[in-house]
Amino acid sequence: MDALPELPGQLPVQPPGQLPGLGPHSGEFLHEFLLAAARKSPDRPAVVESAGAGETTVTSYRELSDQTRSFAEEIHGLGLDIGDRVILESDTTAASIALFLACSSLDLTFVPVSPDTPDERLLAIAETTEAALHIRAAEKPREGIPHNVGTACFRWGGIAVDRRPAPRVRRRREKAVTDPAYIIFTSGTTGRPKGVVMSHRAVTAFYRGMLAHRIATPEDRVASTSPLQFDFSLLNIGLALGSGAALVPVPQALVRWPRRFLGVLRDTGATQVNGVPSIWRQALRREPERLAALERLRGVLFCGEDFPLPELRRLRELLPDIRIVNCYGATESMACSFEEVPDPLPEGTERLSIGFAHPGAEMLLIDTEGNIVDDPHVTGEIVLRSPALFSGYWADPEATDAALIPDPLNPCSGQRVLRTGDLAHKGEGGEMYFCGRKDSQVQIRGNRVELPEIEGRLLDHPDVTAAAVLLLGSAEPNGAEPALTAFVVPAPQSPAPPDAAALRTHCATALPAYMVPQDIHLLDALPTTPNGKTDRPALAAAVREAA
Ligand code: ADP
Repeated sequence: MDALPELPGQLPVQPPGQLPGLGPHSGEFLHEFLLAAARKSPDRPAVVESAGAGETTVTSYRELSDQTRSFAEEIHGLGLDIGDRVILESDTTAASIALFLACSSLDLTFVPVSPDTPDERLLAIAETTEAALHIRAAEKPREGIPHNVGTACFRWGGIAVDRRPAPRVRRRREKAVTDPAYIIFTSGTTGRPKGVVMSHRAVTAFYRGMLAHRIATPEDRVASTSPLQFDFSLLNIGLALGSGAALVPVPQALVRWPRRFLGVLRDTGATQVNGVPSIWRQALRREPERLAALERLRGVLFCGEDFPLPELRRLRELLPDIRIVNCYGATESMACSFEEVPDPLPEGTERLSIGFAHPGAEMLLIDTEGNIVDDPHVTGEIVLRSPALFSGYWADPEATDAALIPDPLNPCSGQRVLRTGDLAHKGEGGEMYFCGRKDSQVQIRGNRVELPEIEGRLLDHPDVTAAAVLLLGSAEPNGAEPALTAFVVPAPQSPAPPDAAALRTHCATALPAYMVPQDIHLLDALPTTPNGKTDRPALAAAVREAA
């Protein structure tokens, strides 16, 4: 890959001797693990990107490693301290991978956010994380970044600094694998996004467990369809680079256009495609021949939600020889199991198995009293015992204590396990079947959404006094995509009821697009159940009757 001409404001490069290196190669830090192949096979492709018109741009492991080092040199010159937060606003590209690897090599915690994130949300993340630096792929700076936060933009070849971070007191000397590698913000029930803090040790432990499934070999090209701020993209990067294979980042803008999506898969020679189930929906409906013509495709891994079985069967029909893997888990542990979907899928299958946790981890079920559920077919909540657990929610010890609980089988040990909030039952062989959530969390095209966060945003509007949000409709068979539907009670003092478009704009200024309600109904009051809770089934039934 050609180096770019010098960028305006580019920092002087520090002599490499003064830098923390790319590691003593213990493989316990994220960058060491992901760049291990740069030593074994430096000339093999690490990232293959579609360059349009059937062309691709290939970045080798050596180039990725060199770019990582050079970004690290530039960031090092900004005087940040170990553990400082760097907000990385970008899609997944070879350059953004090198940038987060550079952060890892300096033991800076990166916080990936999407370029589509509304200003208000991004500023809230910068504020709560007390970020030292906001670095973006876009040239144009974001408005309103606090003055003590440094700002910069980057592309392959260099970083252009607009404003240096406020000077830091450097107190740390040693990098530790227990330090946070990254923070991923997911939707939160309290109306504020939750920051899942993941250590180097936890991520690399996860990667080791995952690689035991031998999904990819160095010959593979692993297409990742998830945005960088979704931890599934880090899973894909780990799967590709950890296997010495190439990562194929599929631009977000293309995933929704089936012909272009399939075009990228064909042009880049993708052999493995990873993403949420909905990435296949349009291609299955509109481009079955093009889908069936993906001759190099060997495997599909899906995650984040149930794959509607009629669509899964159709995918199998079109691509009869591929290996399909159901990946289950949550951001708090990256993922936790990979289960092969049986081929053929037996008649009468109602649910797909999520199997067993990765080697070195274990899923258990507990009942509402916290007792272990051993018997098959009895529903309980999944708890995960694993070396790959998150460290905590950023600045939220209460939520952390609710999620990381004493090991129910060994409560005196001080060991914590992850309480997932997911319900499941065991089959006869001990394998698990996911059967829904305990709470108000839903998945929208694979994005985790807490409905109360949307309700909280609606309630921030001065003309709204009560709000309930539901995910209505079904993805199957051939039905409409599930839609977020809001029920809003106007404030009595408001001169005129708020209109739906204004409420949607109000949501869109603070929430990602997938969290903005499509339908908004104004009501005089929300219906309640006998115990006074919002009667959500009644709201859903009213919409069904009106349809
Ligand atoms: P991920 O990035 O793994 O999708 P999120 O934290 O965004 O993780 O969402 C996690 C939740 O998504 C899980 O707690 C579960 O409710 C749901 N989920 C994840 N994987 C699956 C799956 N394979 N099948 C069904 N539901 C899933």
